This record gives sequence, structure tokens and C-alpha cells, in this order.
Amino acid sequence: MAHQGEFEQFPFMSFDDDFDEDEFIVPESEDVILELPLIPLLDTVVFPHMVAPLFVGREHSLKALDEALEGDRTVLLVAQKEPVEEDFPSSMLYGIGTEAVVGRVLRMPDGSTSMLVQGQRRLRISEFLQEQPHFRARVVPLYEEEPEDEEDSLATEALMRAVLALFEKTVKFSRNLPDDAYVAALNIEDPGALADFIASTVPFPVEKRQTILEAIAPMERLQKMAIFLAQELDVLELENKIHTEVQKEVDRSQREYFLREQMKAIQRELGQEDPLSQEVNELREKIAARTMPPAVVKKAEEELSRLALMNIAAPEVSVIRTYLDWLIALPWTERTEDCLDLIEAAQVLERNHYGLPKVKERILEFMAVRKLAPEKMKSPILCFIGPPGVGKTSLGRSIAEALGRKFVRISLGGVHDEAEIRGHRRTYIGALPGRILQTMRQAATVNPVFMMDEVDKIGSDFRGDPSAALLEVLDPELNNEFSDHYLEVSYDLSGVLFITTGNLVDPIPPALRDRMELIELPGYTEDEKLEIARRFLVPKQLEQNGLTPELLHLTEAALRQMIRIYTYEAGVRNLERSIGSICRKMARAIAEGRHPHRTVGPRALHRYLGPPRFAYGKIEAEDQVGVATGVAVTDAGGDIMSVEVNVMEGKGNLTLTGQLGDVMQESAQAALTYARSNAAQLGIEVKRFEQLDIHIHIPEGAVPKDGPSAGISIASALISALTQRPVRRDVVLTGEITLRGRILPIGGVKEKALATHRAGIRNLLMPKKNEPDLEEIPRNVLRHLDITLVDRMEEVLPIVLGGGERPPLDTRKGKGGM
Ligand code: ADP
Repeated sequence: MAHQGEFEQFPFMSFDDDFDEDEFIVPESEDVILELPLIPLLDTVVFPHMVAPLFVGREHSLKALDEALEGDRTVLLVAQKEPVEEDFPSSMLYGIGTEAVVGRVLRMPDGSTSMLVQGQRRLRISEFLQEQPHFRARVVPLYEEEPEDEEDSLATEALMRAVLALFEKTVKFSRNLPDDAYVAALNIEDPGALADFIASTVPFPVEKRQTILEAIAPMERLQKMAIFLAQELDVLELENKIHTEVQKEVDRSQREYFLREQMKAIQRELGQEDPLSQEVNELREKIAARTMPPAVVKKAEEELSRLALMNIAAPEVSVIRTYLDWLIALPWTERTEDCLDLIEAAQVLERNHYGLPKVKERILEFMAVRKLAPEKMKSPILCFIGPPGVGKTSLGRSIAEALGRKFVRISLGGVHDEAEIRGHRRTYIGALPGRILQTMRQAATVNPVFMMDEVDKIGSDFRGDPSAALLEVLDPELNNEFSDHYLEVSYDLSGVLFITTGNLVDPIPPALRDRMELIELPGYTEDEKLEIARRFLVPKQLEQNGLTPELLHLTEAALRQMIRIYTYEAGVRNLERSIGSICRKMARAIAEGRHPHRTVGPRALHRYLGPPRFAYGKIEAEDQVGVATGVAVTDAGGDIMSVEVNVMEGKGNLTLTGQLGDVMQESAQAALTYARSNAAQLGIEVKRFEQLDIHIHIPEGAVPKDGPSAGISIASALISALTQRPVRRDVVLTGEITLRGRILPIGGVKEKALATHRAGIRNLLMPKKNEPDLEEIPRNVLRHLDITLVDRMEEVLPIVLGGGERPPLDTRKGKGGM
């Protein structure tokens, strides 16, 4: 058996100094030899006219060679279909081979033999004469046809050029073909020989070469060659591209490596450590100094080893550095010991808060349970609901103080994006952990009291639903493995005592609401505020401003004024602010050496706080036609509002203004329908409805309003406008109205009662069906109210439409007598 030699095979040229083509003695007559010894070719094809060195290794190939050498040195070279080394049948050979003349034969001392052959012509095997000891075959020569006419030869010419052009490119792209291969090809005139030459020069696989060998017609051969070359070019081009890219990368990293090594050497010379490895060492020490869960240590070490291998200028360095800083800075095991001394806790709560007995009781119960079953109990989530300034935050602080825990807080107001809770993946530029973990870092312990304000203000939109993430945070079953996108390792939040706060219950997503224990703080009465101010706010502000009671005394009357006409609120936030501003002005006056009067009474307030902002009790000053008083529940507790109705000559149009929501608009329609259908009893001419335009407006037009509870106030104002009888403005009206004048119950009774009281109004008229809710109203507020419960609009009208003289509220059905 033979295969291609090692030396650069280059068929037409002499490749051996002492080789000379005359060595090949070509037999004269072509038809004489029709039976030839056969040498199978393992991995090559030898073409006519080509010179090829071949190694001859196997026994029967050597025998065939011997036979040829004994005769006229002619052999038949046939490629094997598969590169099988030993014993194979003749069917393993292709049917067409090349007649070749054997030139120089070299026998090496180790027994291996190499020979030089020159291909002569194509032969088809017609019959195998023997397979042992070597193959012998009877063959028929194959002749190429000459091109028939001019057209044919033109086509051949064009094809030759095309093949040459492809070959030129192939030579250029290939790293294995010498450039003069193309020059050699240029000099070949015979089309068939050109294809043969290229087939034996380009390293095609055996099958392709055999295809070319078997193509007898030169045109066909060239066509096939053109296809093979085009395929080869595609591969080469791709190969080249990959090669160039790899080379570029290798060059770059070699260069960097070299420079870095140089830098290290310089730094060593200067007695400095390489800054990155110095940093890696520092980080490693910091990590070792911290107690972290094993998973976190593992993660930290992985990142450290990545960092150590990096180039200091790489952008990832700072990403990993920040990440490791986070791992180091977060509390993993640090915790404060809970102080569960209930007596002391009760003292802390009393010391910091006036009133709120139910809330305090609940907090102490919570601590008691914790004391008895410290392990078993997963912290429940307390949720304080109430208007601003009622002490929700300060209660949270007191709980932390009583337990001896750290206190941290975040506001969820306006959080739309899940990533704000859970953070962004590290692949984002500038990614950080979410707010939960940022706050935990600030807490520096794993068991702080963690307050989340404004749970009623979280939103959800296309960026995801933060309440889903919050559910995981707040769920004791899940939050021991809280996953933050940035951190990647899970974080245990189970030691945290979460408290949430909000102004209203309704907007809290129901799933969240279910997890929480709602504690309501509805707001304070005037007397409570006075107490809070005297006992807490004034001393606190005096201290904060470096004053003492000897330097500033706010009289009770002054405080009451402030509560009534300077700050009109459910809580005490603005009250505290106003007290603070008096303190500051006083402090400044003293510091400037003026000797201000120590006592600040109601009349001095104007000087300190400017003109009052609210008109307390003014609302009852004059009754008007078409203006009734209602009450609404707002974020800030509750508030009194007026409802205005004007009628004018027109065509029966109804206009509604003041940003009324759908429900409120429908209430207005219902009120109108009620008035129309009862026109006769009310003393209104039915046809007037067609001749009048009605305009209903609820002032503070910029504030959106909704809900059905303004129904009876709208109806009262409307009927007042239509009958020209004034409405009593010292009666606050609330209740939903049906088309037939029935009055349906409403929500927020407590807030509405407090708002009425705050406005300095005594009379509150509300649906009879709300009677059970009266219990919610604090006693000291109830004392100041005259509540009338009504079932039908007909009961309301005699009360509110006074018409000049004011009848006492003797129609009331049930006073909150409890
Ligand atoms: P919220 O969080 O409900 O808006 P804050 O806790 O900020 O209210 O309370 C505002 C101020 O009012 C704080 O200085 C707080 O100490 C004070 N305050 C509120 N309620 C009380 C109370 N019952 N007793 C003493 N101080 C109170």
C-alpha cells in the first residue's frame, strides 16, 4: 500500500536535486499493456502527468512494485474507498485509477520503501485478475475528447479562466499552498490537465479527487473543480476570519500579560505590591474577619479568585469589588439581644406616647408572646393605619427602643418596580441591591425593627409588581431565604420585626393586607392634642431649640388656638412644627439680646406664626341657599367639604365640576332624579326642570373626589337651590341616596365624626344603618357631637332646610347615647 510522501508534493516541478525526469522510461505502445500490477492508495489520488512521491509499506504493495520493476516499471494506482490498512477485497477499490511509471525507488535500512511515480493516463479496471499475493487487474485506457467546435472551445476557455481565478484566491487564502502554485497553473494550456493539477495541489479529500479523476470530459472536470474550489474558498475564508480573531486576542492578551509582568517587576523593584493583589488580600482578610453563612463565604471566595485573575483596568474589577463590599458590609449574624422586660416596655410606651391604650396593649401582648415562645413565634407583621402625624413612626421607634433593637425605615410610596425591592442583576450597569438589603446594611444587625411606610401607596405597572416581592419579604415562611437579584445568595430576613404603616386600608393590595395585623390610629381630639402638646411636643421642641420652660411658656389658650386655626389636622405633625417655629423665633430673639415676653398667649401667635390659616367654626356663620355641608375621608383623616348648587334659566342641563369621580357623579344624578320625582311634595314645579340649568360644584376643585356618601348633601343643596330655602350649615350630612330617597350606610364613620368635631361642628346627620359604627367613635368625641340617624330623605329635609328661623334638632332619631 502506498500513501502520499512527506515532501511538499508539487507535481510538475522537480523536487529533488538529483532527480531528473528522464528517469521515467515511458513504454512506447499504449495498448500493449492491458494487464497491470495494482498498488492501492490509502489517502491520495495520483493524476496523469503528475509526479508524486509515495511510501510503500505493506507486503502486497511491495510485491506489486517488485513485479512492475521486473517488467516495464508500469503500475496501476487506484485509490481506496476507505482507508482500511489490512486485508480488504477488491470491492474496496474505486473502479478508475491511473497508470503510472515508477521512477526512483529508495529502500531504507528499516525496510520501508519510497518511490517516485509519474502518472500517465486514466484507466478503467475491467476485471481483477488476482487479489493475492498482490492485486492484478485487466484495464482499459480512457481517452479525453477534444473540444468539438469553436463555441465549445470558447466555453472551455471561459471556464478555465473562472477556475484559475478561484484557484488564485484559494492560493492567497490558504496558508499551505505556495504562491508559485498559481504561476504553475497559469502555464497549463490543456483544460483537463489544469483540473488535474489543481486537484492534486489543493489538499482535497480523496473522494473529491477521485471525482475529478473519474470526470473524463475536460469540461465536466473543470466544472466540478470550480464547485470544489468555491466550497474550499468558503471554508478558507471562515477559517481565516477565525484565525485572525484568535490571533488578535492572543496578541492582545500576550501584550497585556507582558506589560503586567513588567509592571509587577517594577513595583517589586520599588518595594510595592501590585495594587490589585494588595486589594484582593485586603478583601480576603475582611471576609475572613466576618462571620458569614458557608454559602456566602463560598460565593465571596469565588468572586475573589475571579478578581485576582483580572486586569486592574478591566471594568469588571469595580463591579466585583462593589459586590464584595456589599457581602462584607451586610449583617449576617450580628444581632441585638431582645429585652423582654414587659414592665420596662410599658414604661417606654407611656413615656413616649399619650393615650392610644389599645395600641399599647397590643404591643405589650406581642412582646409577652415573644417572651413565652421565643423560638416558635414568627414575628407577626403589625400595620399601623392612620392619617399623618398620629404617631405611627414614633410608635415604631418606641417598640424598637423597648425591645432594645435597631430601628430602620423606608418609604414604599411611589415604588413601582420590583427591582426597587429586589435590586437589579449584576449585569446591569450600576446595579445595586434592592431597598430591603440597603436598609439591612444600614441596620447592621439581622434583627432590627424595620418600618415600611406608605404600604397603601405602592403601585404596580409594566416593570413588575413590587407587592409580590413584598409578600416574600413579609412572609415568615419565605423570608428566611429572601432572594435579591444583585446579591445572588439568599438572605435571611426572619429575624426582622417588620412594621408597616399607611394612611388608608383600602388601597393596600389585598394579598398584603391579609398578612398583616391592622392597628388603626384614627386621629386625636382637640383635648388629646392639647395633652400631647403639653406633655410631649412642647418639652421636646424646647429641648431641641435649647430653651427651658423658664424661657418660654405657651399658654393653654395659645395651644388651643394653634390646634383650631393654625393647624387643622387629624394628627399633630403641623402642631409640632408650629411649636417648633415659635421655639426657634424665641431662641433667636433671646440670642440677639432682645428680651421677649416669656409667655406666649393666643394674641401673640399672630406675631410668631402669621395670620391663621383656617376658620374654626366659621362654617356655621351664615346659612345659604344651595350650599350644604358634607364630610369626606381623605389621606389626612377626614375633612369637611361644602357642596354648592346653582340653578339658572336654561334648558335642563346638568353640569358637574370639582373633579368628581364616577360614583359621585352618579350620586348627583340620583339626587336630581329624587328631586324630580318628588317635585310636587317639595313644592317645585315639574316643568321648571326643563327650564333650568343646574350646576353642581364641590370646591377645592383641584382635588379629585369620589364615593357615594355625598348623596344626601348634594340632594339637600339641590333642593335648597330649587326651592330657594337656605340650608343649615351647622349640620354635617353624610349618606348615600337612592332614587326613591332611601338613605344607605357609608364607610369611615369614625374619621367623619372626628373631622366634624375638628371643624367645631356639633350636628352630624348620618344613615340609620350606620348605628353600629357609632361604637368606633371615641367617647370624648361623641360627647361633643349631636348625631342624628336618618333613614329617608324626607327626614333630612325638615332638619336642614330651615328657611329663616332655625328649629332645634328635635327630629333626631337616635343620639349616640353610649
Ligand atoms: P406618623 O408616622 O403617624 O406620621 P409621627 O410618628 O411622625 O407620625 O408623629 C409626629 C409627631 O407627633 C412625633 O413627634 C410624635 O412623637 C408626635 N406624636 C404623635 N402621637 C403622639 C402621642 N400619642 N403621644 C406623644 N407624641 C405623639
